[in-house]
Amino acid sequence: MMALDNYLKYRSLMKGRSVEKFDLVIIGGGIFGCAIAYYYTKNNPEKQVVLLERNELNNAATSRAAALMTMVRSKRAYIPLTIETFKVAKDMEVELGETLDFKEVGMMHVAASEAKVRDLAKLMEIAKEYNQEAYYLTKEEAQNKTPWLKVDEALKIGFVPNEAYCDPYMLGTFFARCAKNRGAKIRLGVEVIGLIHDGGTVKGVKTSEAVIMAETVVDAAGVWAPLLAKEMGVGLPMAPVRSQYWITERADIFPANSPMVLLPDAQAYARPEGGGLLFGIREGKSLVASPKDVPRDISDFVFSADEGMEDLFENGERLARFFPAIYDMGIKYYVAGFSGYTPDSQLVLGDVPGTKGFLVASGCCGAGISVAGGVGLGIAEMASGRPNPLDFSAFEISRFGDIDPFSEEWLNKCASSRSNKVSG
Ligand SMILES: Cc1cc2nc3c(=O)[nH]c(=O)nc-3n(C[C@H](O)[C@H](O)[C@H](O)COP(=O)(O)OP(=O)(O)OC[C@H]3O[C@@H](n4cnc5c(N)ncnc54)[C@H](O)[C@@H]3O)c2cc1C
Repeated sequence: MMALDNYLKYRSLMKGRSVEKFDLVIIGGGIFGCAIAYYYTKNNPEKQVVLLERNELNNAATSRAAALMTMVRSKRAYIPLTIETFKVAKDMEVELGETLDFKEVGMMHVAASEAKVRDLAKLMEIAKEYNQEAYYLTKEEAQNKTPWLKVDEALKIGFVPNEAYCDPYMLGTFFARCAKNRGAKIRLGVEVIGLIHDGGTVKGVKTSEAVIMAETVVDAAGVWAPLLAKEMGVGLPMAPVRSQYWITERADIFPANSPMVLLPDAQAYARPEGGGLLFGIREGKSLVASPKDVPRDISDFVFSADEGMEDLFENGERLARFFPAIYDMGIKYYVAGFSGYTPDSQLVLGDVPGTKGFLVASGCCGAGISVAGGVGLGIAEMASGRPNPLDFSAFEISRFGDIDPFSEEWLNKCASSRSNKVSG
């Protein structure tokens, strides 16, 4: 912790390195940090922003995402944010004269129990409310679109044709490139090691290289965000919880243009990838870690000693009801990473309670790629001192009261929210 009157002492420790001044400092170069830099530079051409990333851009959760861009979902608060992502993706393609190559294959929702049929009916209403095309498919139509899917047990199958998946690294990088073209400073290999504050007002950051003073600081440090907020005495309501998926070997039953599939009765999802099938299944008890125990470089963390095989054996039966060929398929890749989960599966966004000049963009609940546009827009506008055009009331940091994000009780609470998740 560093008060303003202490920072001169820190300066001398920095051995004469200069103190810089920016309007905005963004901590973390994942998709959230990059998106915030994009909108801030676009809407404030006269202002100076620096994004600080201790590794490479998009090295952590972002590059590991399955990147389903689910737009129509039961959590209404996410929908306008995702609509914004689709919009900005098109804008950036024009701006850079390159394609992001979104795979607009659509999302199939397979309901195989009365409860899930009711949920699907509600989802179809939500699609209408947000002017998104959605309709039911016959079993035969569903089978033709997805040869790997066993539809016998399906009672209703819904389809949202305009949903897509993407390359998350490329999407994050597009945000950063556009921001850089408009003057954002992007510094890689620079770690923020503390906040500079005067009481509750954040005035800047100390980094591995220098002191940077700023009007506003945004903590977009992914699952590490609670470590910085703790300096201000605030417990961010989220925890690093593992997401994992597998990719099968190539086979003719996985055409590249087949839709993404959500199987809520199996708590599973799937989409085509490189001629094979990428799929994830919720495990009974999700692996959770304290933010203090997640290494700086995520590739140093061992997510599973057996590439998720035990989890696959334990939970695969649920998926086999819909994907019987799973038992004959070789698994080619295993991918795992941490996302910041919350007990109510809502994001953690906005002003940090009891502070000034300090915002957070985190707690992505495994949906950060799809909502990145809305997160970037809303936080950039708040950082500019303007009203947020999006409704972030469901994402307020204070909604759980005073919590300790490092306690075992809290970590388990967040992990069970992931275990109960039925969407992608
Ligand atoms: C296996 C998996 C599957 C997923 N599937 C989907 C999906 O299908 N759809 C979807 O929408 N989302 C999905 N997600 C979630 C998505 O990846 C995340 O929500 C999103 O990437 C979060 O972005 P972020 O910028 O908050 O975090 P990150 O990408 O983790 O970025 C945070 C950055 O902050 C940097 N940092 C941290 N501390 C400091 C510091 N002190 N100084 C400087 N830099 C610092 C880190 O190095 C890191 O680069 C998935 C995630 C995983 C792991």
